[in-house]
Amino acid sequence: MSTQYKVKLLEKRLITDDVISLVVEKPSNFDYKAGQFSQIMIPNPENSEKFLKRSYSICSTPEENNIEFCIKLLPEGVGSNYLRQVKVGDEIDLVGPFGKFVLKEEKPLVLVATGVGMAPIFGLIKDSLINKNYKEKIHLLFGLRHDKDIFFTNELDKLKEKFDNFDYTLTLSQPSEEWSGNKGRVTDYIQKHINNTAHYYICGNIKMITEIKQILSDLSIEKENIHFEAF
Ligand SMILES: Cc1cc2nc3c(=O)[nH]c(=O)nc-3n(C[C@H](O)[C@H](O)[C@H](O)COP(=O)(O)OP(=O)(O)OC[C@H]3O[C@@H](n4cnc5c(N)ncnc54)[C@H](O)[C@@H]3O)c2cc1C
Repeated sequence: MSTQYKVKLLEKRLITDDVISLVVEKPSNFDYKAGQFSQIMIPNPENSEKFLKRSYSICSTPEENNIEFCIKLLPEGVGSNYLRQVKVGDEIDLVGPFGKFVLKEEKPLVLVATGVGMAPIFGLIKDSLINKNYKEKIHLLFGLRHDKDIFFTNELDKLKEKFDNFDYTLTLSQPSEEWSGNKGRVTDYIQKHINNTAHYYICGNIKMITEIKQILSDLSIEKENIHFEAF
């Protein structure tokens, strides 16, 4: 049984044109693991007495004082429309935590995120480096479409500077002409980071996850070492 909580919205920031960071207060008995998700109760626009639930991964870690979400606002999405208009100070109904997309044991990690699939992956990175003091290598493949979609790279750069065992590859599938970084999809880069002892954590759309899983399977990576969360 998961508990329902009423939490205050403490911070709301636009981090790209259509992605927001929401920080809510953490109830004292909200025990979660990095990588898990929570559901937000969304007032049903068709029946004011009812709620719809939408799942959102937690991108903060249990050691942080508050809970952070990173949410893509979709045009005409019911949850998106609600979250577009909530204001700092408003109360939000949360249920959770849920999910098994969590760290199992200290192994080299290869993390693959596309879009807001970065949310739980960001939690896993911070938890392993900062809270768990992982010494094994951690490599993130982060795929976005356009230059304007880039987020969290300042934070990732700081982590990279501080922790020798962490590095990341950002790649854009539809970059501008000025873009001088990596081009293409995460599937174009995964082969460079194959490590038979690593655990793979993949989060994003189901098509990308299926393709990465196929590549890993073709390279004889054991199923038990592949963890994924599809949005
Ligand atoms: C475990 C899990 C974790 C998740 N974590 C995250 C996360 O961290 N961040 C995140 O952003 N998302 C996350 N999601 C996805 C999230 O739960 C929602 O599915 C997503 O935000 C869309 O919800 P919505 O209510 O805004 O859109 P919905 O109302 O469910 O609509 C879905 C889609 O249909 C379109 N649509 C709706 N109505 C119409 C219409 N009349 N005509 C045409 N198109 C229409 C919308 O634009 C949208 O593209 C997660 C999902 C899961 C399962």
